[in-house]
Amino acid sequence: MVVRVIVAVAIAVVIAMVGFKTLKAVGGGATPTARPEEPEDVAELAVFFVCRECGTELQVTRLGEAQVPRHCGEKMEVVRRPVPGDPTLN
Ligand SMILES: [Zn+2]
Repeated sequence: MVVRVIVAVAIAVVIAMVGFKTLKAVGGGATPTARPEEPEDVAELAVFFVCRECGTELQVTRLGEAQVPRHCGEKMEVVRRPVPGDPTLN
């Protein structure tokens, strides 16, 4: 009888451990999508989304997950304008 209880407890512990591990794995795998990276501050890089159809330009000041917006039914072009004094462009 005592052995049975011990076995039952042992099985319960194993099941609990496996359950926690699964939860941890699921939680760890979901973390990147649940918490995306911090948006990158690109205001000084002069990045623009340009619509080739109508000429609309949107300056990007903070770049999160790279998703190019659409304008006039077309994907906007990502243009990086040269910034005076930017050493990476010279
Ligand atoms: Zn447009």
